[in-house]
Amino acid sequence: MIQLQNYINGSFEPPKSGAYLENFEPAKGEVFSMVPNSGPEDVEAAYQAAWAAFPAWKNTPAEEKFKILNRIAELIDSNRNRFAEAESRDQGKPVWLAKNEMVRAAQNFRFFATAAMQFASESHSMEDRGINYTLRQPLGVVGCISPWNLPLYLYTWKIAPALAAGNCVVSKPSEFTPYSAYILGEICTEAGLPAGVLNIVHGLGNSAGQAIVEHPGIKAISFTGGTVTGKHIASVAAPMFKKLSLELGGKNPNIIFADADLEKAVKTTINSSFLNQGEICLCGSRILIQKQVYETVKNKLVDAVNQMKTGNPADEKTRIGAIVSKPHYHKVLGYIDLAKEEGGNILTGGKALDPEGFENGWFIAPTIIEGLPYDCRTNQEEIFGPVVSLIPFETEEEALQMANSTNYGLACSIWTSDLNRAHKMAAAIESGIVWINCWLLRDLRTPFGGVKQSGVGREGGWEAMRFFTDPKNVCIAF
Ligand code: NAD
Repeated sequence: MIQLQNYINGSFEPPKSGAYLENFEPAKGEVFSMVPNSGPEDVEAAYQAAWAAFPAWKNTPAEEKFKILNRIAELIDSNRNRFAEAESRDQGKPVWLAKNEMVRAAQNFRFFATAAMQFASESHSMEDRGINYTLRQPLGVVGCISPWNLPLYLYTWKIAPALAAGNCVVSKPSEFTPYSAYILGEICTEAGLPAGVLNIVHGLGNSAGQAIVEHPGIKAISFTGGTVTGKHIASVAAPMFKKLSLELGGKNPNIIFADADLEKAVKTTINSSFLNQGEICLCGSRILIQKQVYETVKNKLVDAVNQMKTGNPADEKTRIGAIVSKPHYHKVLGYIDLAKEEGGNILTGGKALDPEGFENGWFIAPTIIEGLPYDCRTNQEEIFGPVVSLIPFETEEEALQMANSTNYGLACSIWTSDLNRAHKMAAAIESGIVWINCWLLRDLRTPFGGVKQSGVGREGGWEAMRFFTDPKNVCIAF
């Protein structure tokens, strides 16, 4: 049994209460690790360490920060297999997918190490009267709270810019997937990150997480997770005037027009629907298909899904691993039942699976449903599992109206060969991210985030560097 510890002031420490949580391996349904059940006293210790480390880290030359952050990236690369195995056992995803995600986790450090070197202050001349320059200063101690679906990928997406901008961090990975962040603690020490600059407190959202949000010394909260949690965090943090970046849920439309390259659209749609068991905030769960090609696309999708292997995460051929936790497994199955009650016709999947050797794991067959009205609950609420709904449409206007009909607005994909339509749709869709004829094609310089109930604020590139710094204007009169 693995016993994890908090990483505070550069050392591994048990939680002050001595209490631990059981964490399960989703593919086996067995306890896999014991996770510190931390509380406000652990967050306070992490904060004190971070605050003490801040003056020196803030003043560490940019080149030195660059070297340390790059060394962390190198160590993630050289420990890639260890990380991937840990992540797969913790989260349930296939090992091959976890390995791909580790490349991005390392890239997050490299990217922001470089970004920080180029994040220059602005200056504004007032002709012969004077000049302004704007310092971008680190905030101090910031809080980073991340979810379970892409554990190290999203955790590093937050802490890398926070550290690169000169802040010290008190962080909390998800209690369901803490293992890779735990290993990262070891690596940060090895890479020479000074003690206290990054602190990792494990535990539940409503105790350890809440204590980070409530802490008066923690100046900003970068949060990725569910919309309900995001609303709660906003209500606690807003009266303290904390800076907030909230990356929340989605119910993303994937719109396929009859003039699209259907081969490519179908192939990518399989990925955008079911990668990581459909547990990616960017997954398209409402597949809008123009009527002329509805039957063709439907049949191709069902055929492709019927060939997907669900089961052993260590098998290279596995496409669908286990669902992250028992409660989430029941939630997803509950939505499949709801879809049936709402009149949905299950075209494939629609049930739990017990693959050989993994009979006690939490597996759900990739599921395609049709026949649901666009405004029913199944088509409006985030399921966050391997479940998609096919919805036919006739015109561009109808597709747009259906696409914009949810409270969410994170991402969408549009498949068409008509350039004018692509631009018009992209401008009109209520969504923070629009992909035309692709999905998850990412450039880390671009803004990332959602509108409506999918969140506020943006991550990525200069957006992240701006979030983790405060602008201070200095005006000099001549
Ligand atoms: P969650 O909201 O349950 O938990 C996310 C994190 O917040 C966890 O670390 C949790 O412990 C912590 N938390 C919970 N309650 C808290 C509280 N009161 N105070 C402080 N922290 C608290 O989300 P989840 O189930 O881990 O993740 C799935 C959700 O995340 C989905 O809705 C998904 O769409 C969303 N997500 C969004 C993005 C994005 O970029 N927009 C990316 C990935 C996942």
